[in-house]
Amino acid sequence: MKIVLTGANRGLGMHLARTALERGHTVLAGVRTGVEDSPINRLEKQYPDNVYTYFLDVTNEESIAKAAELAAKDVGSIDGIINNAGVLTERGKPIEELDFDHVQFTMNVNVLGPMRIMKHFLPLLYKGKKQAIINISSEAGSIHNAYGGDFPYGISKAALNMFTVQLSSYVKDKDIAVYAVHPGWIKTDMGGDNATGYPEESANGILDILEGKLDITSELGFIDFTGKEMKI
Ligand code: NDP
Repeated sequence: MKIVLTGANRGLGMHLARTALERGHTVLAGVRTGVEDSPINRLEKQYPDNVYTYFLDVTNEESIAKAAELAAKDVGSIDGIINNAGVLTERGKPIEELDFDHVQFTMNVNVLGPMRIMKHFLPLLYKGKKQAIINISSEAGSIHNAYGGDFPYGISKAALNMFTVQLSSYVKDKDIAVYAVHPGWIKTDMGGDNATGYPEESANGILDILEGKLDITSELGFIDFTGKEMKI
């Protein structure tokens, strides 16, 4: 598969890029910093024919349009999109202390980011085969399990889940699989050292879902990385 992946240089995104390459896929990696000796540079050297790296900030529509233009020239079509880039701001802050610039920024990255990606990459996806879209969500976005904290993050992932259901309906006649996937609580900069899960394991599960290997029965497409249904 030819897979567009945002936030490919760090955390879960880096493991998704590496695992996808190990499985023989081509990765169109969106990164904000491509400095020498970064993880994506090392993967480019290891898999010179299968990695295309583009500057892509999901809050910057121009960078996304440019990346889509380059991808069209480089590969002609894509088969998968993983909206992985995300931020968690105002962690644990009471409502009385929220900084609304951070709240808006969180919505901008976590919700408008995947929407912008769809705006510019859907035409290329339509040209692909056995297509699938995965929006990396979180259990924090489950209304059913809502807790009184991480306000901007929770509402952003709930909104992303809504966008996932809308998108699924939008591309229904094209037979494109669309999922919002909770990757588990994993050891990354965001998840921290106390997290109980490993990004390698989540990356493998997420790629199984993208490849259509799992038998998924979820009605609204909100699942965890093992394919198990999550409550919206
Ligand atoms: P990290 O904080 O470790 O990495 C975040 C990634 O998002 C980085 O690659 C970063 O790029 C990228 N990113 C942030 N802002 C932007 C932007 N504006 N444009 C492009 N890329 C951006 O987080 P994780 O790897 O843990 O998280 C990956 C996804 O998994 C997120 O969507 C997160 O919400 C979700 N998730 C994570 C959980 C966990 O326990 N870790 C639990 C549930 C969900 P850069 O390197 O340039 O900063």
